[in-house]
Amino acid sequence: MAGTPRAAPKLMRVLSSWLPSLSARFVLLVAGLFLALSVVMIVVASYLDLRDEEQRIVSDAKAIAATVSRLAVPHLTNHHYLILEQELESIAASGVVEAAQVLDPARSVTIDGDPETSYFDEQETHPLVVLALETGVEQVRQTRERIEIAVPVQRTEDTGVLGVALVSVERPPVQGLLFTIWSRNIVITLVLLVFCVPVTFHFAENYVRPIKALTQTAHTVSAGNFDAPFPVERSDEIGVLARAYRDMVGTIRNNMVQIHELAYVDPVTRLSNRESFRQHFTNNMHGADSQANRLSVLFIDLDRFKRVNDSYGHDHGDALLKEVASRLKGLLEKPHGGMPPGNGEAEPFAPLVARLGGDEFAIVVPTDKSAGNVVKLAEQLVQCIEQPLEINGLTMTVGASIGVSTYPDDGEDYTAILKNADIAMYAAKKTGGNRACFYHEIDLDAHSHERIRLEAELKNALLGEEITIVFQPKVDCATMKVVGAEVLARWDHPEKGMLAPGEFIDVAEESGLITRLGDRVLILACRQGRAWLENGLKIPLAVNVSIRQLEKPGFTSRILDILEFTGFPPDLLQLEVTETVAMADPERVSEATKPLLEAGITFAIDDFGTGYSSLAHLQRLPFNTFKIDRSFISGLDGDQHSRSIVQTILAMAKSLNYEVVAEGVETREQQIFLTENGCHTAQGFLFARAMPAGRFEAWSSSFGGGKPMEGDMAGAEVEAQRDQVG
Ligand code: C2E
Ligand code: CA
Ligand code: CA
Repeated sequence: MAGTPRAAPKLMRVLSSWLPSLSARFVLLVAGLFLALSVVMIVVASYLDLRDEEQRIVSDAKAIAATVSRLAVPHLTNHHYLILEQELESIAASGVVEAAQVLDPARSVTIDGDPETSYFDEQETHPLVVLALETGVEQVRQTRERIEIAVPVQRTEDTGVLGVALVSVERPPVQGLLFTIWSRNIVITLVLLVFCVPVTFHFAENYVRPIKALTQTAHTVSAGNFDAPFPVERSDEIGVLARAYRDMVGTIRNNMVQIHELAYVDPVTRLSNRESFRQHFTNNMHGADSQANRLSVLFIDLDRFKRVNDSYGHDHGDALLKEVASRLKGLLEKPHGGMPPGNGEAEPFAPLVARLGGDEFAIVVPTDKSAGNVVKLAEQLVQCIEQPLEINGLTMTVGASIGVSTYPDDGEDYTAILKNADIAMYAAKKTGGNRACFYHEIDLDAHSHERIRLEAELKNALLGEEITIVFQPKVDCATMKVVGAEVLARWDHPEKGMLAPGEFIDVAEESGLITRLGDRVLILACRQGRAWLENGLKIPLAVNVSIRQLEKPGFTSRILDILEFTGFPPDLLQLEVTETVAMADPERVSEATKPLLEAGITFAIDDFGTGYSSLAHLQRLPFNTFKIDRSFISGLDGDQHSRSIVQTILAMAKSLNYEVVAEGVETREQQIFLTENGCHTAQGFLFARAMPAGRFEAWSSSFGGGKPMEGDMAGAEVEAQRDQVG
């Protein structure tokens, strides 16, 4: 019993591995059922046929017996035994019966159809005959071989019995009967089967066809065609399935649209985004290999957009960007907007405008031989953007600095073309803005070319993760303990490798990118300082600040914000401002630093000694630390002048209660001189050069033992490091 439920799935598994096709399985099922039915039918039919056949034989025998009995009536009445004998013999000779006899009880004569015997012979009376004579009714006896019937001979039913007629009929063998019946039924079944299989196959195919159609549609959909029609008009289960499929595909299509939007559409302006722009460019650059068939990128940066954003807020800024976007789109959609006039050449691609981020837009257009269409488009763009904008009831004006570079003339791939368009845009901005510059026309010497390029690259570096920081330890000369670290910026340039600040700080200052750079450095520093604190390492950090940062409105709140969201304590932060900067505008500096001092942040004067500041001035500023410039320390070894200056600074600092840090300490002699003259904190290659956070941690734990480095070893290291710095 328990085997059956488990056997069914097993059978289904075997079936499905044998016959993967649904219609073949259906045909097999129908044929199997048909065969099983046929077997049952044949068995039943054979039983019924056999029974009919037997009944027929019995009734035939009875009919013969009745005939014999009727035949015997006159002969028995008149005792014409001889005639009766002849008639019985002829009946027996016909082969219909095995034996036939009549008994005349009155004279005890038995007349039979056997030619060998005669009615004169004594014959034993058959027991069935005796029974029929006694009862006066017909008697039947059936054995395997024969059927015997004894019938009373009477004139009519009411008259007395004259005698008894006995007929014996041979039974045909059952096997023979069965054989005939079975072969007949099997032939019928086979004929039906031959007819039934193709018909079933036809029906099965009809049933499976819509499933096949559905499968085909599903394949088409998975190949990416979401408009493939589903057979939804059917009202049966397949129709239900098709509708379910259609709904599912509809949902998927909507999701795909949303995903596409998120990936390729700028949410503010609904223009294409940077990625979509890149794809459009690269898809079309392969066709652009001849002079007559090029493509140009116009890199558009809005002038004065920052001012709008800062003074009116982001809502106005966004509205302005939307308006500019719709102007750009409108311009490109005009007849011939940006397209070269048709000249029978290969069909050029459609121009595309995208927002790359912030206030930067870009357009890619097919370019004709003379690039005349691009020149014209650039002019139109400048004019169209400088028209006053009506934003939330306010009238504003912005401008556009546009840089153009053309593929393949100005670069061999998308990255180069975009970068060069960016450089050209910088050139446009540098020369007053609100104009377009073509990359190949920028007339610059190699140096300024490099600076512009660096500026463009730095801007991108700040978007990514290329700006990193390193830490240079400050050491207490008396105890040889690490008392803090100065944070120094590095630029992990993708082509040039790790750049020191000397190679990019100036560019950053000039371009105004220094504020973003400063923010980045401060965030990275505070984050690291906080992580160290959590690991039980309390390291005061000094971060360099540029005058551009100090000047920028919101400087103080920006610093406090960064401290708050990184969780770095203000009293562990020192800001370094160079002496020249601090002295240039002392009022501004003290105003900007006041709330920071109140929060616990300390300030240091960097490169002290280079600015010849008067003490009176210095005292008005909120500094509590001097960093003696490297040039004086390096002069200590031979130069008496430097020795006197350093001694003076240290004495002055002591009397005014300032802390002093000596920068650029490279030798043991320098260190000893400084210690003897009361300088406690030093920083320089003698101890360590600036290093990444991980190495700093390892270094300070081994250095923290308090043993100064041996002079020779330190000297060798200084040489090596000086080589690297130099
Ligand atoms: P700095 O503030 O005077 O920083 C000290 C510089 O002297 C570092 O150079 C440091 O590596 C180097 N130095 C330290 N010890 C020795 C020594 O024993 N011998 C020699 N020859 N040099 C030593 P670096 O890292 O190249 O920084 C150069 C300048 O760039 C810094 O001068 C600082 O003014 C500026 N800077 C660095 N990072 C930033 C930053 O995040 N923001 C701003 N605004 N300026 C930064
Ligand atoms: Ca510094
Ligand atoms: Ca310095």
